[in-house]
Amino acid sequence: MLGAPSRGRAGLAFVTSILRSATADAAAARFVRGVVTDAVRRRLDEIRRSLDDDVYPPSAEQILDDVIEGLARTHRPGIRPVISATGVVLHTNLGRAPLSDEAIAAVRDACGYATVELDLESGERSARTARASGLAAELCGAEAATVVNNGAAALLLAVAALAHGREVIVSRGELVEIGGEFRLPDIIAMSGARLVEVGTTNRTRIEDYATAVSSETALLLKVHRSNFRMVGFTAEVGLPDLVRLGVEIGVPTVLDAGSGLIGNGLPGLPTGEPSIAAAVRSGADLVLFSGDKVLGGPQAGIIVGRPDAVDRCRRSPLARALRLNKLQLAAIEATLLAHVRDPHGPDVPVAEMLGQGMDRLRERAGSIIDRLEWEAPTSIEVLEVDGVVGAGAAPGAPVASIGLAVTGHDAARLARRLRAQEPPIVARVEGDRVILDLRTVRADQDIHVVGALRRALDHSRDRIEREAE
Ligand SMILES: *Cc1c(COP(=O)(O)O)cnc(C)c1O
Repeated sequence: MLGAPSRGRAGLAFVTSILRSATADAAAARFVRGVVTDAVRRRLDEIRRSLDDDVYPPSAEQILDDVIEGLARTHRPGIRPVISATGVVLHTNLGRAPLSDEAIAAVRDACGYATVELDLESGERSARTARASGLAAELCGAEAATVVNNGAAALLLAVAALAHGREVIVSRGELVEIGGEFRLPDIIAMSGARLVEVGTTNRTRIEDYATAVSSETALLLKVHRSNFRMVGFTAEVGLPDLVRLGVEIGVPTVLDAGSGLIGNGLPGLPTGEPSIAAAVRSGADLVLFSGDKVLGGPQAGIIVGRPDAVDRCRRSPLARALRLNKLQLAAIEATLLAHVRDPHGPDVPVAEMLGQGMDRLRERAGSIIDRLEWEAPTSIEVLEVDGVVGAGAAPGAPVASIGLAVTGHDAARLARRLRAQEPPIVARVEGDRVILDLRTVRADQDIHVVGALRRALDHSRDRIEREAE
């Protein structure tokens, strides 16, 4: 068995010899022995198929290392924590709002058996969302509330509960697409209601709604244009006017606010978001908004408004299909509690990020740069940049921020290298620059940014990777 290694297939190690090592035993303990054995067999087959007779095959150790690396990759969850240097506070691809420590603790507590639908005092069954609904109603000054899986579910449920088999009137200027799969006309169709479009793309008047009213009309729906702005020759009907028409014709009015400003809003949030409390005060029957946008909580859809309309949503057969799970429930309760406690600046990361002052960001950028060393052609400077709120909140309104701009590298390659760090850092590429926006980086993550930049800025790796491509 020992002796000079041979070329070609003859030199290839046997399964048994590859598996006879301490490394293989450790891998078996980590992944189950049968899984490792199968993976080694598959790797050997692959090598055998592609191996030329005049080259030396990889050693047993090398084959085992490859197999372990492959298993580690496939056995890793798809969701991995990242540091977001994107400057997009609510980044849908990065999970939108990061949760507060309190919400995280609440989720952990709910992972085992928990009082999801049990009243401890009476020992009887209780309503799953009773606490969250009470808090949401209190926060928004509404008489009633309920909570479902997400904003899209809230809209589907509200339209199905109030207008199934009948007509919903919506302005042509508000037939929005929120993300690839969320298009307002499709949601209305799925709810079993018929869409009646009124007005034009840029202008809709109250008479347009009034003319479209028929005996089939069941709902007046207003939708916040979350992810775009209309400027120029435009006109839209405000919620109070729409509510007035609804009352006149005896039909409920619903506002899909999308993100929404909760209570007094957040310091640092650009204006332009509809206030949920104001919408409730104006008399809308239901107001809908998301839990993981500026509220700063988990994915959830919150429905606040009049008791009869909320009740119809709760009693809909769809409600069960759209309900939230106990982990979402725990996190939304904790998030709503934080808002009720301090509506001026709730203790949630989204509020903290939006409220962080430019001086503090500049200070952090300076201290990161002080801890780095670089040589030409690399250059790093501190820049004033435009971040955004994201997730369709405050469209077109930039959030001034501070970034580190790195030049002197292939920007896409440097960004990729930052994403390959542990933890991965997600930055922005703008032309030939990589921008690391600090507004979305927590101050306690700055140290990781320093470490990742040190490793990623290695020019010798630039050359190696270029040659490999
Ligand atoms: C974001 C948004 C939705 C969808 O909410 P999700 O929580 O993402 O399902 C619906 N309507 C409007 C106006 C939105 O901005």
